[in-house]
Amino acid sequence: MNKNSSNVMALAPNTSNKRETVCIFGTGDFGRALGHKMIQSGYSVVYGSRSTQISNLIPKDAEVLSHAEAAQKAAIIIIAIQRQHYNFLIPLAEILRGKVLVDISNNLKLNQYPESNAEYLAQLLPGSRVVKAFNTVSAWALQSGTLDASRQVFVCGNDVEAKQMVMNIVRALGLTPLDKGSLLAAQEIENYPLQLFPMWKFPIFLSLGLTAFFFFYCVALDVIYTYIYEKRDFSFFIAITIPNRVCPVMALILLALVYLPGIFAAIIQLYRGTKYRRFPDWLDKWMLCRKQLGLIALAFASLHVVFTLVTPMRAFVSWRTSKGIISQALNNKTEPLNNTNAWISDSYLALGILGFFLFVLLGITSLPSVSNNVNWREFRFVQSKLGYLALILCTAHTLVYGGKWFLSPSAYKWYLPNIYILSLIIPCAVLVVKFVLIFPCVDKPLTQIRQGWERNPKHSE
Ligand code: NAP
Repeated sequence: MNKNSSNVMALAPNTSNKRETVCIFGTGDFGRALGHKMIQSGYSVVYGSRSTQISNLIPKDAEVLSHAEAAQKAAIIIIAIQRQHYNFLIPLAEILRGKVLVDISNNLKLNQYPESNAEYLAQLLPGSRVVKAFNTVSAWALQSGTLDASRQVFVCGNDVEAKQMVMNIVRALGLTPLDKGSLLAAQEIENYPLQLFPMWKFPIFLSLGLTAFFFFYCVALDVIYTYIYEKRDFSFFIAITIPNRVCPVMALILLALVYLPGIFAAIIQLYRGTKYRRFPDWLDKWMLCRKQLGLIALAFASLHVVFTLVTPMRAFVSWRTSKGIISQALNNKTEPLNNTNAWISDSYLALGILGFFLFVLLGITSLPSVSNNVNWREFRFVQSKLGYLALILCTAHTLVYGGKWFLSPSAYKWYLPNIYILSLIIPCAVLVVKFVLIFPCVDKPLTQIRQGWERNPKHSE
């Protein structure tokens, strides 16, 4: 046998070693899927069911008995039954005394009941050792083996030994247990599968609102204004030109909004002279969704890159280029290369490329698999120092793009500034205030405050 094949055997799960018997109450979707996975992992499974008739949906190596008979065969009983039916367990209280009961249930609404289902089960059966687990894993994922997105199993319970026994099962199934502490954590664990992108709501609504605003702003200035005053139809701008204006503007504003709450926090701490007073709720929430704002900003920046790359393929651009060549030929005059313009255009592109590179780096380091592999200082260096550098480069990219043109009257249609000018307001404000904050006379007291110093200790809570 070669070395490789012996390695493969060492890594293969040891299915010949029979593990203990586990009882599952309920032969529904989840009970069957979990039973199937447990049998594959070497456990003996016995079902407790209202009907002891074997159906062909039940894993073929499993036994099906009445609840009382099944419970006597195992020390661990998984309750794969909805909470509203838990009353049927009360008559079984004596049989279930001292047993580990695993509550896997979920609810239909957030905070549906005053107490969590696991705490309710513990109240119904005070002699049993209740552990909450498996509720974040779906029956479908267990059955199909597509557990990549939900390998983590949150486990909580008041009995440490019982919790360990359940965590051992979780590991044996190839999943990762995450100890969340006592049964008090059960409510949070039960609410977890009901949440719909909680941290993404504000960034998504903000991005949609700003995108719609800037899109219609551009339509008004670039399409409607031109049609009214120049009698030219540029409605096709809606497909690429306007999105390619809105995307960089959104990327820059959202990137600045990632750093703006930190600026507010610093100003508040300096003003209060302490870090021991809570920030306003809006600032706390804003701070918590900075990663999401940054990732949406990265998505807009990536779209801007793609839109820019297709520019040479556009009929409008080739028409404009050939028009320029023809007019030079007709006038029998070649326009010399304008060195200043060449410099501006190359610098504009170089700043954009470098800014985008750092943007991507920020996005990559925010992925859990990467951030788990760097220490806190390294993470802060990338997210804060390189993040500010990305903001400086992207702001400079926009400034160089505008150049002198920002000041020309033709940039103001209906007395309104171009969206690039609008997009610079927040980033420039963030960079200017940050510049002030790094002055030693401001940075020193701020650092002291962050290390616990208080200007007026009686204000601390
Ligand atoms: P299900 O398919 O409806 O199965 C529930 C089982 O409960 C039934 O098959 C039945 O088993 C038993 N049952 C029903 N009424 C009963 C009663 N009055 N008294 C005693 N037993 C009764 O539901 P499920 O999808 O398997 O979900 C079961 C639990 O797992 C729920 O609490 C759910 O929140 C949780 N969960 C489900 C999933 C999932 O993906 N499905 C994921 C995570 C957590 P017998 O006929 O054998 O008695």
